[in-house]
Amino acid sequence: MVSHLNAASCPLLVVKVGSSLLVEPDGRVRRGWIETLVADIAARHSAGQRIIIVSSGAIALGARRLGLEKGGRASLSDAQASASVGQIILSGLWAGLLEAKGLTAAQMLVTLDDLEDRRRYLNIAATLDRLLGAGAVPVINENDSVATQEIRFGDNDRLAARVAQAAGASEVVLLSDVDGLYDRNPADPEAQIVPQVKRIDGKIRAMVAGGSSSGMGSGGMESKLDAADIATRAGIGLAIASGLRDHPLAALDADAAATWFAPREGANARKAWLGGRLTVKGRILVDAGAVSALGNGSSLLPAGAVSVQGDFRRGDVVDVVGPDGDVLARGLSEYDAAEALLICGKRSGELAAILGTVPRSVLVHRDQLVLL
Ligand code: GLU
Repeated sequence: MVSHLNAASCPLLVVKVGSSLLVEPDGRVRRGWIETLVADIAARHSAGQRIIIVSSGAIALGARRLGLEKGGRASLSDAQASASVGQIILSGLWAGLLEAKGLTAAQMLVTLDDLEDRRRYLNIAATLDRLLGAGAVPVINENDSVATQEIRFGDNDRLAARVAQAAGASEVVLLSDVDGLYDRNPADPEAQIVPQVKRIDGKIRAMVAGGSSSGMGSGGMESKLDAADIATRAGIGLAIASGLRDHPLAALDADAAATWFAPREGANARKAWLGGRLTVKGRILVDAGAVSALGNGSSLLPAGAVSVQGDFRRGDVVDVVGPDGDVLARGLSEYDAAEALLICGKRSGELAAILGTVPRSVLVHRDQLVLL
């Protein structure tokens, strides 16, 4: 696995650092450990690798400063207040420690919406590109103090995967208090770490018991698998590794235990962005004929649709659901939900009589569709 992470095979690496690695349970910053991570980052930087840090810890730090219960997660307003107190501490910490190694920190706080909206997503990509080109080290967190419940990532695992996608990274390393995915509950003495995952299927999902072990972050293994799914679909590898040791990146180079998710072949950038989107506005239910047509690379025609659910507009993201209830594809709808409903099951020749005009012959065009 060693070759995965060098500057040649991985010119741009995203490192996500979980809250429990940054903050002691009593609220003190784990400065000594962070220094060892920054030393690893500086060594990679001088070897030509570019690094983006996705740092959690704002809520955990701020809650302890404010004396709020449940680590600042008792309510959304507690989390938002904690984040705004913690973020300023966190930024100062990263800026200072990177500076001590001759590196310039660049802070970006983003919301889920920023990455779901295509224009804002491309804008973030351009800013990251410019920062990295100028030799800075972006330090990214969710803008927790402004994001409301409905539009929050809530965990930095998926945020890291989306950022990696926007930046065109080769690999994501999620550092937390677990050293990888276990094949069963890690408390079971028989549990074994899964060193490599080629595809995230039902078997892999079933291994996850759920829940954050430290209780400090909001991640847990489930959101790490979601992150791995987003990243690998975009052709980016992802590793889950322990940050409980000093110099965690150097340890990975020395083959420390970890779970490596292999990138999927053949994802194009726009389709990867689509597949990794988290806000889906509706569903189009389709028949078996449409399932096989989609599998052969066709667009979704009105004739193959059985029903629609949700209140989506033209251009919104919808899931395409087969007769067995499985979500088989995700794409941008060519029609508003109300119109789509009217033309479900109708042949192309019938559309003009129903709609008055036939603006578009497909419900979801294959260029705007990704099979899941
Ligand atoms: N954005 C949150 C924070 O800075 C962390 C989210 C997570 O636990 O992954 O505190």
